Amino acid sequence: MTGPGGVVVVGAGECGTGAALALREEGYAEPVTLVGGEPGHPYERPPLSKAVLSGAAGLTPLCTPERLADAGVTHLAGVAATALDVRAHELTLADGRVLGYERLLLATGARARPLPGAHVLRSHADAVALRERLVPGTRVGIVGGGFIGLEVAATAAGLGCAVTVVEAAPRLMGRAVPERLAARAAARHTEAGVDVRCGTAVARLEPGRIVLGDGGAVEVDVVVAGIGSAPETALAEAAGIAVENGIVVDGSFATSAPDVFAAGDCCSFPHPLYDDLRLRLESWRAAQEQGAHAARALLGAAEPYAAVPWFWSDQYDLSLQVAGLPAVTTEEVVRVRPDGAELWFGLDAGRLVAVAGIGVGTAVAKDVRIGEMLIARRATPDPAALADPGVALKPLLRAPSARRVRSGAIA
Ligand code: ADP
Repeated sequence: MTGPGGVVVVGAGECGTGAALALREEGYAEPVTLVGGEPGHPYERPPLSKAVLSGAAGLTPLCTPERLADAGVTHLAGVAATALDVRAHELTLADGRVLGYERLLLATGARARPLPGAHVLRSHADAVALRERLVPGTRVGIVGGGFIGLEVAATAAGLGCAVTVVEAAPRLMGRAVPERLAARAAARHTEAGVDVRCGTAVARLEPGRIVLGDGGAVEVDVVVAGIGSAPETALAEAAGIAVENGIVVDGSFATSAPDVFAAGDCCSFPHPLYDDLRLRLESWRAAQEQGAHAARALLGAAEPYAAVPWFWSDQYDLSLQVAGLPAVTTEEVVRVRPDGAELWFGLDAGRLVAVAGIGVGTAVAKDVRIGEMLIARRATPDPAALADPGVALKPLLRAPSARRVRSGAIA
């Protein structure tokens, strides 16, 4: 039997759940069905490596169950979508049900790259399994010094575990965070007693030890892998939808198949701020914004998605934020504030393309937010002003954009 038509959303995470609710906020009145492979009510993932793992808090629901019900969103939990027929406009579920749709949104997210013998941290079930192992005195080996590995390291150290981080690259958080800020985080980990080993490859895991590429070994009771994730694209690929480092979408999140959209961690999209460079973001805020944007696109809105990428990570008392794309930077400027917080600005041909900050608690939030607005405006701020902690950032927003041209002359 085929039902229920309307919009079917695959994936009940931040992006998919937000999109389902946004459809109603946009006035959509046809059936909305949210299909999720995980059991239970949709929840926030960021706390999994922090408060949920430490036991300080339980799950944070993405919205109340009443809100989904009141919005008339049918949530099918604990049932995976197994096949998509884009010509017939039908989605098959693991329990044999077939859902017809007028429009479909793939918000399937990403899955942790596995390392046999190691825990990963992506779902609530992962967090519960790992939490049971993090008792004081436990020797915890963490493979990978990215956000996930380091947040788990901070939480485990806080629980009294003896933590070693093994990172293959020469430094921590090489994918997303400027070197200077990563060094500041590394020092904080060392201060907390974490043994941080960069430039150290893992050869293999053996019971009770991580064998290193240089022949050494780290004796451990528990191993956690934070070695990146891969977009969940199997359903799309099997349906013949274009996939290349994620499900390929246009600026409105439309895939290569008619009436099928994709958004969040699973998709790669062109970013107008960066010459339409294709990005695939694994970011809580991007998932949220893209879900809302895709909902409007499903209903026919055409404006391209242009939000500035933004990430954050909390480790101990430190908070790290990154906006824009540090990878496209050709000139770096650092501002050290009197309170010890540090800001980093990335420019390309005079234009601000990235900003990052590290400080205690919310210390850098406001400045990174202003940096983000400058990036969105394609601002060309004076590097000397960016470097000077005595110069307020906010007034820079008032300067006309594209003040300098590539040659450095004043336009
Ligand atoms: P995550 O979201 O899991 O934190 P990232 O890509 O931000 O993902 O970070 C993963 C880190 O793991 C990278 O710094 C990468 O260099 C590191 N890494 C990947 N494979 C290995 C490995 N086999 N041994 C040690 N480090 C690894």
